[in-house]
Amino acid sequence: MSEDIYDIFAVHYGHHDRPATDNYIGGDTHDLQPLDYYVWAIVGEKRTFVLDTGFDEAMGKKRKRTLVRPIADGLKAAGVDPAKVEDVILSHLHYDHCGNYDAFPRAKYHIQDTEMAYATGRCMCHAFLKTPFEEEDVVAVVRKLYAGRVRFHDGDSEVAPGVTVHKIGGHSKGLQCVRVKTRRGHVVLASDCTHLYAHLATGRVFPTTYNPAEVVEGYDTLRRLATSDRHVIPGHDPEVLKRYPAAKSGLEGWVVRLDAEPRQT
Ligand SMILES: [Zn+2]
Ligand SMILES: [Zn+2]
Repeated sequence: MSEDIYDIFAVHYGHHDRPATDNYIGGDTHDLQPLDYYVWAIVGEKRTFVLDTGFDEAMGKKRKRTLVRPIADGLKAAGVDPAKVEDVILSHLHYDHCGNYDAFPRAKYHIQDTEMAYATGRCMCHAFLKTPFEEEDVVAVVRKLYAGRVRFHDGDSEVAPGVTVHKIGGHSKGLQCVRVKTRRGHVVLASDCTHLYAHLATGRVFPTTYNPAEVVEGYDTLRRLATSDRHVIPGHDPEVLKRYPAAKSGLEGWVVRLDAEPRQT
């Protein structure tokens, strides 16, 4: 395997049953459409990256989301020891993407300039915009900044050969996706750039948003970055666990391989 080709694991850790109408601006005619919660491991010959750090049990209770299994257990099942991870990429600073901030003691944290400015600036004066953020999560990132453990990116940026980040904005002002070179082509880990397959497929928008125009423009960017639509991985779709094979037997519905071809749908 060449140095810039990576395996990718989606690690499922949380779940939320909810009416479908909660998932789209303008509502939806379906009854139920749950969200699943993931972190992702990008594993190369020499370097490993973790994309997003989820929430823990206490935050799940506070936010009325189910913690199915702690993220550390899932990462370990994927062969990744959080204590040894040296690079964490944060797609954005919403509570379900940047908790568990003590789980990666050696890691540098990669984030967009815009997201840090957004989460610590005037927009947080507004309850509507502040709702998906948690004060302690944001403070934890600020502490890492002063400890020399934050690496900033502005727009499109290479984190390592074969791993690039791309600012999309929209859902959160400094939201970024990650493009990864794999054995099946370029896979784009969209995180909340598209919550569900349906958002990308139909051009609809998740209700939590800073700028809906950037959300729909972002769908085009995801498509441009990925080898095909089948290479875009939504951030919260339960379907991901069905389309991709388990990392190994016994991990079905928990840890799946995204560098493998998805089942035909
Ligand atoms: Zn989000
Ligand atoms: Zn999210």
